[in-house]
Amino acid sequence: SKYSKEDIIRLAEEEDVEFIRLQFTDIFGMLKNVAITSSQLQKALDNRCMFDGSAIEGFVRIDESDMYLYPDLDTFEIFPWRPQQGKVARLICDVYGVDQKPFIGDPRYVLKRAMERAKEMGYVFNVGPECEFFLFHTDEEGRPTTQTHETAGYFDVAPIDLAENVRRDIVLNLEDMGFEVEASHHEIAPAQHEIDFQYENVLRSADNIMTFKMAAKTIAKRHGLHATFMPKPKEGVNGSGMHINMSLEDATGRNAFVDESDSLGLSSTAYYFMAGILHHMKAMTILTNPLVNSYKRLIPGYDAPIYIAWSATSNRSSLIRIPSSKGAGTRIELRCPDSAMNPYLALAACLRAGLAGIEKQMKLPECVQGNMFIMAPECLEKRGVERIPETLGDAIEAFEHDGFMRDVLGEHIFIKYLEAKKKEWREFRAQVTDWEVSEYLYKY
Ligand code: GLU
Ligand code: MG
Ligand code: MG
Repeated sequence: SKYSKEDIIRLAEEEDVEFIRLQFTDIFGMLKNVAITSSQLQKALDNRCMFDGSAIEGFVRIDESDMYLYPDLDTFEIFPWRPQQGKVARLICDVYGVDQKPFIGDPRYVLKRAMERAKEMGYVFNVGPECEFFLFHTDEEGRPTTQTHETAGYFDVAPIDLAENVRRDIVLNLEDMGFEVEASHHEIAPAQHEIDFQYENVLRSADNIMTFKMAAKTIAKRHGLHATFMPKPKEGVNGSGMHINMSLEDATGRNAFVDESDSLGLSSTAYYFMAGILHHMKAMTILTNPLVNSYKRLIPGYDAPIYIAWSATSNRSSLIRIPSSKGAGTRIELRCPDSAMNPYLALAACLRAGLAGIEKQMKLPECVQGNMFIMAPECLEKRGVERIPETLGDAIEAFEHDGFMRDVLGEHIFIKYLEAKKKEWREFRAQVTDWEVSEYLYKY
């Protein structure tokens, strides 16, 4: 690994680090942390830092609440946006029980188990995310709004845009934290932005997604703006997705998705992997698209997928597309996920689905070319192309009785997740929305 315990102690001293945040993620994808002072660092590095797990939604009951945090030494990073005297650093941690065993409710452990499977089959899963988000104004009290004064559009260069500076500041801070940012640009909707970082093994990428969101929110706030990863904050314009680029690396370090003799440059491993994802997609949509609001993004006309299909060309309406880069950069792009997902759980599900495709040599349905937003649904149905769940309710239904997802997540997380999503859906269904009032109050 990159750092030893001694390295970290020395770094903390040299850099005048005063606080260390021990971070982990709950099952709903919320970043949590326990802050310690540097005097406690040795204790933390010896895996002796404890917290009360009953305070975390979906974790444990009161009577079994002690949990331990085991820092992943490679994740040591100093926050560049904090004061340069008495600095603040973080370590991402695995959650353990008093029995010194990994806690079954820790999403990072779910991902590690999936990675273990991949390793047994001879693979490392590499992932590169494309993170979209909006930068909105805050009101006088500092509360987020959906207001923007911005008018720039896709790839625009808008010198007077405040948000351009903010995005640049986010990128610079990420680079200070060791991120390799591949691209950043304005997205299609006003006030919408995208930052893409270099692919890494899936654990690092999931950690990076969590870090990225925290950094984006923090930096935006410093500029008086609010960064939101809500999937569809405004009707009538694009929502924010988090496209996931995926490939497998074999034991020799080669990209196992490459086959130059194939017309698309893809190996049979890549085709099986895709088939596995398509096969399990319905049941795992609740993980890639976890909110009531996620499903408002997955509608025709906004560059987000609506059908469970793949496409060989640059087709923004399809669920999986094959980016044109060849050779080592060969990969598939899954376009449904949004940033509200818990990256550990969602990526574990994608990996396991893909591996199942390889194991069972699943047959990939024919590719669908052309714009699916304008194709007749009957035409697609005749070809056996299914829809992505249309609501959180549909997604719950597809997930609830799926033994494969239960196995991927483990019993504990599966049950907690299902319960929480059912509650969310029930609550939403009880709401009378503005749209209903304006449509019906007068007419009926
Ligand atoms: N914002 C679109 C979405 O909801 C994606 C736009 C793009 O192709 O990058 O997924
Ligand atoms: Mg984009
Ligand atoms: Mg993309």
